Amino acid sequence: MSGASREVLDPADAKPLALVAEAGTEDTDAAVAAARRAFDSGAWRGTGVADRAALLRRVADLLQRDREELALIESRDTGKTLEEGRVDVDDVTSAFRYFADLVVGESGRVVDAGSPDVHSVVVHEPVGVCALITPWNYPLLQASWKIAPALAAGNTFVVKPSEITPLSTLHLVKLLVEAGLPEGVANVVTGAGDPVGARMSEHPDVDLVSFTGGLTSGTKVMQAAAPTVKKVALELGGKNPNVVFADACATEEGFDTAVDQALNAAFIHSGQVCSAGSRLIIEESVRDRFVTELARRAQKIKLGRGTEDGVECGPLVSAQQLAKIEEYVRSARDEGAVVRCGGSRPESSDVRPATGYFYEPTVLDYCHGEMRVVREETFGPILTVETFHTEDDAVALANDTEYGLAGAVWTSDAGRARRVATRLRHGTVWINDYHPYLPQAEWGGFGKSGTGRELGPSGLAEYRETKHIYQNLDPRPVRWFAG
Ligand code: NAD
Repeated sequence: MSGASREVLDPADAKPLALVAEAGTEDTDAAVAAARRAFDSGAWRGTGVADRAALLRRVADLLQRDREELALIESRDTGKTLEEGRVDVDDVTSAFRYFADLVVGESGRVVDAGSPDVHSVVVHEPVGVCALITPWNYPLLQASWKIAPALAAGNTFVVKPSEITPLSTLHLVKLLVEAGLPEGVANVVTGAGDPVGARMSEHPDVDLVSFTGGLTSGTKVMQAAAPTVKKVALELGGKNPNVVFADACATEEGFDTAVDQALNAAFIHSGQVCSAGSRLIIEESVRDRFVTELARRAQKIKLGRGTEDGVECGPLVSAQQLAKIEEYVRSARDEGAVVRCGGSRPESSDVRPATGYFYEPTVLDYCHGEMRVVREETFGPILTVETFHTEDDAVALANDTEYGLAGAVWTSDAGRARRVATRLRHGTVWINDYHPYLPQAEWGGFGKSGTGRELGPSGLAEYRETKHIYQNLDPRPVRWFAG
């Protein structure tokens, strides 16, 4: 085994937070072999759905028992605020409970074969060994959206968290063991995308790879998986439009709500959210008032260490991410964007430790679809502003992206709300809201935002094979051949 290790850093001060094993190909192969043995033994897939569901519910209870500890781990590892960490634990708890409820009582479907001499049923079976690869922005949540349905369906798995933020996934796997999961069903490997994730994706003994992360890595996963024709599910990035019509701002209350939610859409978790509303697409007539107020409020967002009271936004996750954001703002300025607020690292060292990866919430006005900052996912606290005059223009702008993960429309006109929602080519559309999701409703993207869906019934279906069993109750020769 590799015997190597990696320092995990606290993004608020760039100091070491933990030392974690750095796996190599051999460790990955050992984890896949353990998952394979456990699957083939039948210990977990042979467990009845009621017992599988009971285990998922025990995990949910344990998550709640460790809520504060997990929120703290997530906050220190990713930089997000403690409160965001708590919300993540609660959301994850709901996901485990949802998949427990969903799987119970399902026993396939009897099909009418058109003959009393045939008994025909369609049943669902687990896919087998699942490789689960997750990113650094919502480590606990992304792992749980995969682990809960994978286990509910009776699979075994190997999970690989991001090498930058592995800590909450390690804790979660301990909880699975504490809840009573049979040996070998849950396996975790910590280490780099290449070789660990790459090996998991190509491995002949892996039946399914479910990946959440960036477009570049996602395409590599798909290519690596192709020769073995394993099932592939990809949850990739987004460049998400937040479309605001003037009628949504006609009253003071409406204006306040739309500005507040635009702020939330763009800057929560410092914009490091796949569904971040990073493109404000606003009707020209209200642009000035709206953007001025938005920039005023963005400037007041309190940056700091996520564990400190009163902090509203933590640091970016890594030096690499910070450098990327600085480069996007530089290129946007060069291409003619006007910085309405932010645009640099915070000056005052009492706002943040000098070594932390902080960046100010940034609003870039006068943007257009040719700019890199508008086309590419920045994954940071950058909001670009584009304007429109007509409903058709608004829809065209919102759909002018290679991604298609999520988007919102703000309007007081119910007909317009439904028309625009129908025309948006995005996997989730919010009307007069931004960011909520439900474990009961599918999550995933159109276009280059990915393939497949997590959550909802489709989120369970990803982890199942469907089998048709046709039984002839009165077999006779067919005499197709005269013989
Ligand atoms: P990333 O693609 O760099 O890494 C994601 C994971 O893939 C990590 O565990 C990484 O080690 C691994 N990886 C890297 N190269 C690999 C390879 N060649 N083969 C297999 N695995 C490999 O992404 P990131 O920077 O960690 O996360 C940010 C990205 O994740 C953003 O693009 C964001 O939009 C996306 N994301 C999407 C969703 C969604 O639901 N659609 C949710 C969260 C994050």
